[in-house]
Parts: sequence; structure tokens; C-alpha cells
Amino acid sequence: EKFKEGLSKTRNSFASKVNDLVAKYRTVDEEFFEELEEILISADVGVNTVMDLIDELKMEVKRQNIKDSSKMKEVISQKLVEIYYGDDDEEIEELQLNEDGLSVILFVGVNGVGKTTTIGKMAQRLKDQGKNVVLAAGDTFRAGAIEQLEIWGQRVNVPVIKHSEGSDPAAVIYDGIQSAKSKGADVLLCDTAGRLQNKVNLMNELSKVKRVIEREIPGAPHESLLVLDATTGQNALSQAKTFSESTNVSGIVLTKLDGTAKGGIVMAIRNELDIPVKYVGLGEKVTDLQAFDAHAFVYGLFA
Ligand code: GDP
Repeated sequence: EKFKEGLSKTRNSFASKVNDLVAKYRTVDEEFFEELEEILISADVGVNTVMDLIDELKMEVKRQNIKDSSKMKEVISQKLVEIYYGDDDEEIEELQLNEDGLSVILFVGVNGVGKTTTIGKMAQRLKDQGKNVVLAAGDTFRAGAIEQLEIWGQRVNVPVIKHSEGSDPAAVIYDGIQSAKSKGADVLLCDTAGRLQNKVNLMNELSKVKRVIEREIPGAPHESLLVLDATTGQNALSQAKTFSESTNVSGIVLTKLDGTAKGGIVMAIRNELDIPVKYVGLGEKVTDLQAFDAHAFVYGLFA
């Protein structure tokens, strides 16, 4: 239901175009595939992924000897899900947390993508699972970032560890870890800075933060989640490339899917980077963070 609601823009654009296509071409022929290709590309599915998908679809049409285009919606859905998962099994990729002791989750991403909001939503989600959560305000660079995280901390009622603006993020994270340990907390969620104007400094800062976490807790960070804004389309893809080149990204949170008609970007990210999309943001409310599931996503599109 959540997916259905949050994906309404993509559904209204992508799925309705596919419906029109099916109505226009009764039979599945070369022209049908050409138009389908355009629809997929305009939904930001990504050229390489579209090519793979079209090839798969053509083979499937041959194999099942499909003539009638009305059967194609089901086949397209199936193949989208298959291509999304590739060789991996179709488990929903939940967080890899430390079962006994503190887990640390690092959030990285460019300013404005929805990092702080995602941390707030995630804190609530983990609390609902019975976990004790602490937040660390590691974005000491952007004006207002610390206050914004504090507001989320108050909203979801979890402690926020902070220093003043401009201070060393690694020191904040260090304090966050000590404080979380002394409280016996289960999960520490770490915000980080997201200025990409100075890429080298940012990446150095992130690796220093990571070193502190690794030193304090063996095996941590348990997750490094890259937050990307779905409404930025191919730009999100290039941000993902930049971050994954310099830091070990274990999963992606794709925010603002509710704000775009081009939800196909999920497919492009997964296939071109081979990093799992673990969560999607489907709105601004605290409850609008969903564990990503390609079945629910694809079937939500056509529902
Ligand atoms: P940060 O700079 O990365 O920390 O970004 P923020 O968390 O401040 O978010 C930037 C804006 O995006 C805010 O207005 C959020 O309410 C909004 N936002 C974040 N996630 C979502 C989402 O999933 N859907 C929508 N519609 N808005 C979102």
C-alpha cells in the first residue's frame, strides 16, 4: 500500500504509458519494442539496463510465443524484478546489525538529498523494533545541520550527541560511540557532511570518521548507507559512483521517490553499481521510510 501511494507519480507516467502502448499495438512486434524502449529510458531506467531488459523480453516473447500485447504487462513486471535481483537471492536486504553490542550505521551523501530526514525516520523504525538508538551529529559543516538533527532527536525521542559547528566530525563520532556504549545503546546513527564542492576534503574527512569507528568497534561500521535523491535522476547515479569509489558503500537509501515520475532510477542504480537499494523514502513523514522490495515496487507500479 505504501509503495502504491508513494509511487503514484511514476505509476501515472510509466505504467499509464505502458497501458497506452498495449492498447495501441495489439501484437507484439518491433515497433512495440521500440516504443517500450523509449518509455523505459524516459523513466530513468538507464540505457544499459533497458537494453538488457528489451533483450530478455524479446527472448521471453519467443519462448512463450506471445503474440497478444495484453500479456506483456505481466512479462515486463516479471523481467524487471528478475533483472533487479540478477544472480542474488530475492531476500529483502535488511540492515546487518551486531546482535550483541553496539552497531554503528554511517550515513553519507550530498547536502539536500534527505540524509537528516532519513536518520530521523530510521531512528523511529529501529525504536519500533525495540532498539535503543543514539544519533551523532557528524555534519559539523553545514549551517543548521546540527539543529536539524536535534529536532529529529526530539521528535523521535532519542539522544543526539553533538559538538559545535565547525568542529572535527571524527571527534563527534568518537563521543557518539562512547556515549552510546555507556548508555548500553543498540544502534548509533551517524550523520556526516555532504559538501561535494570539495570532494577531496570530504572524502578525507569520511575516511577519518571511518577509521575512528573501526578502531573503537571491531567490525564497525556495520552499514555505510549512501543517501541519494531520486528526483535528481542520472545525477544520483554519478554521485553514487563518486562515493562508492572512495568509501565502502554497503547500501543505498533512495529518497523522494514520491516526488518523481522517473522511479526507474532504482533499476539503474542497482544494475550499474551493483549496490543494493535497502530503503526508499516515500514522503517527508517519519513513517515514510520503506525497506525496499523489488516485487512490491514493480507490482506497485502496475497496481
Ligand atoms: P540533508 O541535507 O541531506 O540532511 O537533507 P534533509 O534531510 O534536510 O532533506 C532535504 C529536504 O528533503 C527536506 O525538506 C525533507 O523534508 C525532504 N525529504 C527528505 N526525504 C524525503 C522523501 O522521501 N520524500 C519527500 N517528498 N521529501 C523528502
